[in-house]
Amino acid sequence: MGSLLIKNATAILPMTGPDQILYNADLAIEGKEIKYVGNVPAEFQPDTVIDARGKVVMPGLVNCHNHAAMTLLRSYADDLPLMEWLQKKIWPIEAHLNSEDVYWGSLLACAEMVKSGTTLFADMYFEMGRVAEAAQVVGIRANLARGMIGFGPNAERAINESVELVECWHCKADGMVKVMLGPHAPYTCPPEYLERVMKLADDLKVGIHIHLAETKAEVEEIKEKYGTTPVKLMDQIGLFKGRQVLAAHCVHLTDEEMEILANHKVGIAHNPESNMKLASGVAPVPRLLELGAVVGLGTDGPSSNNNLDLMQEMRSAALLHKVFTMNPTVLPAYTALEMATVKGAQALGYDNLGQLQPGYLADIILIDLEKPHLYPRHDLIANLVYSATAADVDTVIVNGRVIMTERKLLFVDEKEVIERAEARTKELLARAASEK
Ligand SMILES: [Zn+2]
Repeated sequence: MGSLLIKNATAILPMTGPDQILYNADLAIEGKEIKYVGNVPAEFQPDTVIDARGKVVMPGLVNCHNHAAMTLLRSYADDLPLMEWLQKKIWPIEAHLNSEDVYWGSLLACAEMVKSGTTLFADMYFEMGRVAEAAQVVGIRANLARGMIGFGPNAERAINESVELVECWHCKADGMVKVMLGPHAPYTCPPEYLERVMKLADDLKVGIHIHLAETKAEVEEIKEKYGTTPVKLMDQIGLFKGRQVLAAHCVHLTDEEMEILANHKVGIAHNPESNMKLASGVAPVPRLLELGAVVGLGTDGPSSNNNLDLMQEMRSAALLHKVFTMNPTVLPAYTALEMATVKGAQALGYDNLGQLQPGYLADIILIDLEKPHLYPRHDLIANLVYSATAADVDTVIVNGRVIMTERKLLFVDEKEVIERAEARTKELLARAASEK
């Protein structure tokens, strides 16, 4: 892998502090790491030079919770109550999804994510080897978990497939893929099963990705079954002790539970748009941040969002918490940007990602500022969060490698992906209808 110089950037936003913006600056990459930020010595000899005039250079965005292959179910069922949506629409069609569907659905998702500035995503689904392949083709970094349901005929299979996924993919592909174990949720994985998963995670030295406290119904069900609330139940069985845990949603929390999550540095994936669309509730993010919790942003699956656009998610997060608390000072623009970058990386267990610093992995995006909606520039950060769109993302670099330039994906034929994903969807619907 070679060296790359990004020069003449209108601004570099290293995400090391709200006032730390470098104007008319350069950045150098050597191999997969950032070497210089700001001033690059004259003796640095790059193989490639990118002129970033008119652009802001910033860390790539981190999508902390996704079910990427569900792109095939985008707009398949909307505006329904959660359980009706799941039981009558999503689960019946998901039962017919096969390995090829997951591959092409994931390719479509990866293309969409890169085109909206995402360089790392956390995913929970099945056929995860195919998701890894899709991520590799596009060139995006991935953190993958095979979703596990702790009862019924597939409980053992999920464990076996998770082990296989770890063996095949964890820290492979030049470190571009990491694997976690993915017990779906406390209401689908009984404590005995979770204890097995915890032990396995420790043996395999991987983290755990779980849905937690997403809906009121979940809290009620756990209370009825175990006499306590979801986060407390997880704390009691020791889930958060001594391992990386990524908890999606965390909407319905008591004060005590917020402290548990903050004290254990549990990575929290906040999914404001999915929570709004499914009317799950509003996660207490401002309070969690006050307590020092590690909160990143996620889109959740594309059938409950219905896109994988973190630029929109940042804006939604900032706006949602203002109106919900009736306080416009809550979740300021820089905090939203932190959640989409460095905090998200921390939530997934990366300590050398999400900021532009020497020695950090070179996952970087260039945003084109030469657009009517990004003038004037009283405040670059406010412009990025409140005015910029996915279409302003111009160039994407992952692991020191340019994977999109001038909005063109370099390693995948976007048109082919769209056509194949569309064809797979039609076949899927036909298969589901004939097997009914
Ligand atoms: Zn989810």
